[in-house]
Amino acid sequence: SIAIFISALVLPVTSVMAQTAPSDEERVEDLLSQMTLKEKVGQVSQFTGFWDVTGPAPTDETQARKAELLKSGIIGSMLNVVGVEEVRPIQEYALNSRLGIPVIFGLDVVHGHKTMFPIPLAEAASWDLDMIEQSARVSAIEAAAQGQTWTFAPMVDISRDPRWGRVMEGAGEDPYLGSRIAVARIRGFQGDDLSAPDTIVATLKHFAGYGFAESGKDYNTVDVGTVTLHNVILPPFKAGVEEADARTVMNGFNTLNGLPVTGDGYLQRELLKGEWGFDGFVVSDWASAREMIDHGYAKDPEDAALKAMEAGSDMDMESYVYLDHLEDLVEAGTLDVALLDDAVRRILRVKFELGLFDDPYKYLDADREAELLLSPAHREASLKMAERSIVLLKNDDDTLPIRKGEKIALIGTLAADKDSPLGNWRAMADDHSAVSVVEAFEAAGLDFVYAEGAVLEIGDAAFPNEVVVNLTDRSGFPEAVEAARNADKVIIVLGEDGLQSGEGRSRSELGFPGVQQELLEAVYEANPETVLVVMSGRPLVLTWAEAHVPAIVQAWHLGQESGHALTNVLTGAYNPSGKLPMTFPRSVGQIPIYYSHLNTGRPGPLTDVFWSHYIDESNAPLWPFGYGLSYTTFEYSNLRARKRGDVVEVSVRVKNTGSRAGEEVVQLYIRDIAASVSRPVRELKDFSKIELAPGKRMTLTFELGAEDLGFYNANGSYVVEPGDFEIFVGGSSDATLSTSFEY
Ligand code: BGC
Repeated sequence: SIAIFISALVLPVTSVMAQTAPSDEERVEDLLSQMTLKEKVGQVSQFTGFWDVTGPAPTDETQARKAELLKSGIIGSMLNVVGVEEVRPIQEYALNSRLGIPVIFGLDVVHGHKTMFPIPLAEAASWDLDMIEQSARVSAIEAAAQGQTWTFAPMVDISRDPRWGRVMEGAGEDPYLGSRIAVARIRGFQGDDLSAPDTIVATLKHFAGYGFAESGKDYNTVDVGTVTLHNVILPPFKAGVEEADARTVMNGFNTLNGLPVTGDGYLQRELLKGEWGFDGFVVSDWASAREMIDHGYAKDPEDAALKAMEAGSDMDMESYVYLDHLEDLVEAGTLDVALLDDAVRRILRVKFELGLFDDPYKYLDADREAELLLSPAHREASLKMAERSIVLLKNDDDTLPIRKGEKIALIGTLAADKDSPLGNWRAMADDHSAVSVVEAFEAAGLDFVYAEGAVLEIGDAAFPNEVVVNLTDRSGFPEAVEAARNADKVIIVLGEDGLQSGEGRSRSELGFPGVQQELLEAVYEANPETVLVVMSGRPLVLTWAEAHVPAIVQAWHLGQESGHALTNVLTGAYNPSGKLPMTFPRSVGQIPIYYSHLNTGRPGPLTDVFWSHYIDESNAPLWPFGYGLSYTTFEYSNLRARKRGDVVEVSVRVKNTGSRAGEEVVQLYIRDIAASVSRPVRELKDFSKIELAPGKRMTLTFELGAEDLGFYNANGSYVVEPGDFEIFVGGSSDATLSTSFEY
C-alpha cells in the first residue's frame, strides 16, 4: 500500500513535468508553427552592427531600415555588435517582440578577443592541441562576456599557397593536422555545454575550397578534382561536424568547379546535411548570396535568394536578398516553404541549445564583462601559446640562445611594433597593446641598443591596396649598421606588418616588404653574428637569409605577449618546440609547394634530362612541413610496425641526445605504394608532442586503422584497399627512418 501511495503521488508529478518541459525540438516546432512568413524570413537574415542602435537615428536608408526591423523583432542575427551595453538594447527589442525570439550575436573571434593570441597559423605551429583548445576556450569566455554567442571561427581551409593572405587564419597545408586542430578549436569555443554562459557556437568555414584560390588571389576561382576535394579540402569540415559537433558552417565567396559554393546544393544539402548528418545551420559569407550575380550564376537578387536557399544556405549574411525576396518567392509558389522552414528550424534549434530562450541575460552581465576581459590567467595562456608557436628554423654553432653578458643590437621596426603582433583579426584588441620585443628586452634586463633601420608604413588599414607606403626610406640604415658593428650579436626583426596578411591581402612576391632585405644584408655585412626573427602571417621566401644568416626564428604574429614569448625563446628560458604547418618555398615560382604531393612519372634522377624539375630552381623546399629545431636534439630508432587484427601498431624510440630538456613533435607519415588512384608520397597520419629530459628516452606507440589507411577514390567514395604501405617517423615530413607493412 505504501508503494501504491507513492506511485499515486509520483505519477501526477511526472506527467505534469512532461507537460511543462517539452524538448528543444518540440519547442522549435511549436514556435515555428506560430511564425508568420515575414518572421521566418527575418530569422534567416543577418545584419552587421557598426553603428549604435541606441544612439541617434541613422541617416542612411539601409541603416534606418535595419533599426526598424530590429524593433519589430524579426531579425535573426546580428554581427559586429559587441559589449553588454551595445548588445542588451537590441536583444531587448527582440525579446519584447511578438514571439520574443532572441537574436544570436556573431563576431569573428579568431585568435583571441580582448586578450590576443597568436594568429591561427602560428598556433598550428605548436602542434599542441590542448593549448590550442585552451586558446579558443579563453577567447570564448571573453567574447561571451561581451554578449557574443557565436564566432565565425575556426577557418579550416587547407591551403598550399602562401601568396593567399588568409593562410594566417588557418592551420596550414595538411588535412590531418588541420582536422585535429579544427576539432580542438571547436571544443574550445563550444565547451561541453553550449548553454553555459561562457561558451559560444563555432563556425566551420569556408565551405568549401576557398583556400585553393587560383594564383593565391583572394576570392579567386577554385578548380579541384574529386580526389583532392575529398581527401584534402573536406576532412577538417567532416571532423568538425562529426567529432566536435560544430553548430554552424559558413559557405564562401568562391566558385568550386564552376559553381559558387553558396549555391552548391551537393555540398550543403547532400553532403553536409545529408551524409554527415549536420543539424546545425549554414550561414552565407558576407553578401556571398548576392555575389552569385557577379559570378554569372544568378541573374538578379531574387534568383540569388532562390538559388542560395534551395542549395541549403540557411542564413543570409548582409546581402538583403533573403529579406527582400523570400516572401515573394514563397507566395508565388517558386520556393517551397518547407525549405525556408527547415532553415528556420535549424537556426531556432541552435538558439535553444545556447539557452537563449531560457536566460538571454546570462550573456549580458556587465560584472562578468569587467572581470573576465584581459585577466592575468588569460594573458598567461596567451604567453604559453605564443612560446609554443615559435619555430626555430636555423641555429648554426649555437648562435642561440643569447649568452649572459652579450651586447645586443636589436634592429627593425617590427621589434618596437605594438600592433603588428596582434595580427589581423584584432578589431576588439586595444591599440598598441602587444608587448614589443624592445619592451620585453628591457624587462628581461638584456644589454642592448635599439635601432629601427627601415620603416614599414601601412596604407589604408582596413583594406590596404597599396599596403606599404614607405618603401624606400633608407635613412635609418647607418644607425642600424653602426649598432650592429658595436654589438656581440645582432637580433634583427623583419617581416610583414600584422595587416599585410589576412582577407584581401594576397601577395605576388614573398620577400620582406620595402627595403628590409637590403637592411638585413647591410647589417649582416657589419656583423655576421646575426639572428633573424621573422614576423609574418605566412611563409616568406627566406632563401638569402638561409644561405647566410646563422640563426633564424619564425615568429609569425604572436599576440599580446609576443615580446615576452620571443625573449624567452631567444634567451633560452623557453626551449623552442614549434614545427612548420606549411612548407616554406625557396622561391615564389615553386608555389603551390607541399609535402604530400604525388610523384610524377619522372621523379628522378638528376641526370635524366626529362626529370621533373625547374632549370633554375631546386625541387626542394627551403624548409619542409613539420620541420623545426630545438636547443636540444632528438634521435629516433627502433621503428617497428606490427599488424594486430585490423590495426597496425607502430612503435618508435625517441631519445633526447642533447644537454637540456625539450619538447618534440613525433610525426608519423604513411605512403600507400599502389592504389586505385595515385596516393601522395607521404601523408601525416598521427603525431604526439612529448617532453624529454636530457639523456632520457621514450617508446611511443601509434595505432593505424582502416580510417587512417583508406582514402576517397575518384568517385568520392571512401575505400580501404589492401596492399603495401611504407611508414616514416621523425621530427619532420622529410624523416628518413622508415619501415613497411602489408595491410
Ligand atoms: C569573411 C568571413 C567573415 C565575415 C564576417 C567575410 O568577409 O570572409 O570569414 O566571417 O566576413 O566578418
